[in-house]
Amino acid sequence: MKSNEYGLFENAIDSLAVGIFFYQEYKDQMAHKHAILNIFHSIELLLKERLFREDPILIYRVANKLFVKENSVTIGFDECLKRFRSIGINLSNEELKAVRALKNKRNFITHHKFIPNEIEDENILGLSLQFIGNFLENHLDTRLKDEIQSELYYPIEEIVDSFEKRYLRATKQAEDMVTPKTKDDLCDPKNLAECPECGTETMACAHSGGYCTMCEGSFDIQNCPGCGNFTAHLDNMGQCSDCTRNLMLRIDNE
Ligand SMILES: [Zn+2]
Ligand SMILES: [Zn+2]
Repeated sequence: MKSNEYGLFENAIDSLAVGIFFYQEYKDQMAHKHAILNIFHSIELLLKERLFREDPILIYRVANKLFVKENSVTIGFDECLKRFRSIGINLSNEELKAVRALKNKRNFITHHKFIPNEIEDENILGLSLQFIGNFLENHLDTRLKDEIQSELYYPIEEIVDSFEKRYLRATKQAEDMVTPKTKDDLCDPKNLAECPECGTETMACAHSGGYCTMCEGSFDIQNCPGCGNFTAHLDNMGQCSDCTRNLMLRIDNE
């Protein structure tokens, strides 16, 4: 790399800084969109950085030294995660859920539309920044504090702290909603599921529908044919994400 070039990691930290700058400096709602997209871009680059450290060739779609040039097409979120699995980089359940929620949100914004919503934007931002902090420590041997200017680090810390507080409160409230209170309650199966909007497991589900205590919104739900639990969406294998994750684990262990 030449001295005036920015590698994946520097590029990732720069996108994060731009995202936070937008979020802090501009109060109009489209600024949230730019903040969120820049932070997602940062996450994608950080995932690639982890692969790059394993072997630079792994970030290219055709991972073959004979065909790769510097401008060859590189991989996206999904392929990064597949390659993580195949080379034994294990993301925790929390990390996987966060990445999936962020990916869905980004696809919705970039290929569909952006619907500004103060609560949802703050949730998705909090989840993204929490993920970045953890990913740096767990997979890239560094701390966000050491990589970004302190004028930007402290606001990030504040956003993550307030997200974590809201998350704790929302989890308690959702758990309370699915705990049967009367005998009749026992006849109505209830469970917690991952919210399709914010990606946290704070959606209280019952026959009547799903309610996320984090987003404070209602969602349509259906039954997973695999485990019978309520879920907001069945994936392309026709089951809930927990069932698919368990299946992947079984395949990996065979
Ligand atoms: Zn939610
Ligand atoms: Zn299931």
